[in-house]
Amino acid sequence: MTARVLIVDDVPANLKLLDAKLTAEYFDVFMASSGPEALDAAKEKQPDIILLDVMMPGMDGFEVCRRLKSMPETEHIPVVMVTALDQPSDRVQGLEAGADDFLTKPLNDMALFARVKSLVRLKMVTDELRMREATGQRIGALNAGGDNFLLKEPGRILVIDDRPTSVKRVTETLSLEHSVIVAETPEELFELASQGDFDLLIVSLTLQEHDGLRICSQLRSLETTRQTPILAIVEEGDTGRLVRALDMGVNDYLVRPVERNELVARCRSQLRRKRYQDYLRDKFQQGLEMAVTDGLTGLYNRRYMEGHLSTLVDDSNKTGKPVALLIFDIDYFKPVNDTYGHAAGDAVLRQFASRISQNVRGIDLTCRLGGEEFVVVMPDTDLAYAMMVAERLRQCIASKPFVLNEETGQAIDVTVSIGIAMTEGARDTASRLLERADQGLYRAKRDGRNRVVAEAA
Ligand code: GH3
Ligand code: MG
Ligand code: MG
Repeated sequence: MTARVLIVDDVPANLKLLDAKLTAEYFDVFMASSGPEALDAAKEKQPDIILLDVMMPGMDGFEVCRRLKSMPETEHIPVVMVTALDQPSDRVQGLEAGADDFLTKPLNDMALFARVKSLVRLKMVTDELRMREATGQRIGALNAGGDNFLLKEPGRILVIDDRPTSVKRVTETLSLEHSVIVAETPEELFELASQGDFDLLIVSLTLQEHDGLRICSQLRSLETTRQTPILAIVEEGDTGRLVRALDMGVNDYLVRPVERNELVARCRSQLRRKRYQDYLRDKFQQGLEMAVTDGLTGLYNRRYMEGHLSTLVDDSNKTGKPVALLIFDIDYFKPVNDTYGHAAGDAVLRQFASRISQNVRGIDLTCRLGGEEFVVVMPDTDLAYAMMVAERLRQCIASKPFVLNEETGQAIDVTVSIGIAMTEGARDTASRLLERADQGLYRAKRDGRNRVVAEAA
């Protein structure tokens, strides 16, 4: 993995040292030697991660971090504070400023690379989601000022640790804001994790009877917890284990004895990140559904049907298994609108959609082409079978009146005309198939409506 790293330090020798270390590991390095310079470089170069010195004359690292996290152009870039001081209070101040992690000078190479890689990996996931969201063009602006909503709800936190004092401290501290559940064994942890929708997992890497690293790796491979942040608890100086944990995707860590303020701050930033990702994912899902379905009936729309039909016809050309297509047009629908109103027309369309989709197989694709026209695509289906289904659907529409108004119970009879075609030969196309079905429909209308007509190639 390679990444673009911005390093910020007022001491040239420090910059030079870091540059050499990172370049040797094939990172692309940019440098800035003051706060204002760092802000400009971050905006302009859009690095994947920023390593930020805390003590600088003028604007210090905390202030730079706060500003980075409050600008929409830079708020998503992970920031690692690099400090000579290893005081919990500094860590807390930095985390409150929005920093994603800390490294202490002199820098430990293993921790440095593992940390950078882990944060860059996380950023890639988030970038991907941000990109999809941008493509969807349906975005509420989400910046540092607006992310308060991300913290309103209490989080659900699942903990595994076997030291009574530590468990007590963690649960007491976090229960003030969140709901905390402690698992006694890894089995219980996986069981709970697989059913519960947890926002954060806290795992001790120094369990007496179990391998904490193995637990983390299993959590990373389970579908339900793959995306859930993990906070590891490690012994002071256990760098080897920590680096492995970060490499396998653990998001952050606490060193024993766990300091309360730091615990709170680190949980808070993991929860904020998790919610941001959930938010983007939901938005994306919503956008996806809006793009492929029809708002009135909930059926797939024309665009989706056309894409899907092309795939099915291509498959059919290869396998020789035919695809049948039914096209529906409601008879005399305009007078329904004219006589009873548009809302009544909509009610008919919705009931029509549900009668059709409830009377075809799961693998058949029902969609609304637009207006009062619908299509059912039937994979692996020959003309005789399609005729039978179409006839059944025609009767299902004609045999029972459509309710226009639930309150008055007013109802009318509706009929439909249906055209059918089936793929033929090895070079058929989706558009030709649709065209033939449409010709069948035209004949059904011409011959008196409320009937099914198949059109051969
Ligand atoms: P035919 O038997 O030849 O199919 O006659 P028709 O009246 O059904 O055909 P036409 O295509 O002339 O009319 C379709 C009507 O469908 C016109 C339009 O007002 C109505 N329509 C299209 N979309 C909607 C919709 O979303 N809701 C409602 N209520 N009506 C719609
Ligand atoms: Mg029509
Ligand atoms: Mg019509």
